[in-house]
Amino acid sequence: MASPSEPTVPASYCSSLQTDLTTHVGAAPRAVVHASEWAKVIAGEPVEINPSIGHGFKVMTVDEYTALWKRNDDFPDCLACGGMNTKEHHFVQTWCRGLRRWESETLCLDCHMFSWRSYADPDFATPEEHEKALWESMLIEQAEKNRVEGRA
Ligand SMILES: [Zn+2]
Repeated sequence: MASPSEPTVPASYCSSLQTDLTTHVGAAPRAVVHASEWAKVIAGEPVEINPSIGHGFKVMTVDEYTALWKRNDDFPDCLACGGMNTKEHHFVQTWCRGLRRWESETLCLDCHMFSWRSYADPDFATPEEHEKALWESMLIEQAEKNRVEGRA
């Protein structure tokens, strides 16, 4: 039997996507990171100053609070208003055997809405899930062997 060919590894997390993105638009971030601070910024309550800049708490404008966030040029457009004045506050990606899963969330500085995008290749499994599936198939194989050999 011919062994299945290795899948071609895509060049980047967002190139040659195999399926649709999951998207979500909201006034509050969907990612847990920054969620409680964002509510305070919008309410005009003090938030903790980024430790790389200083210390203590301060009432910040949105521009101040997001000063260190960078735009993601792969997904610069706001899903709510279509504007390009966005900054990313959350990004994670996981690769396993050439397959990808990632999440991105950006804030629009014009309408203050968050745009969420996430994606997973169709057969994506985390290294842990892959390991588990491998063990399970080995156990099934062993059980089948035992059965055939009459030792089960
Ligand atoms: Zn917008």
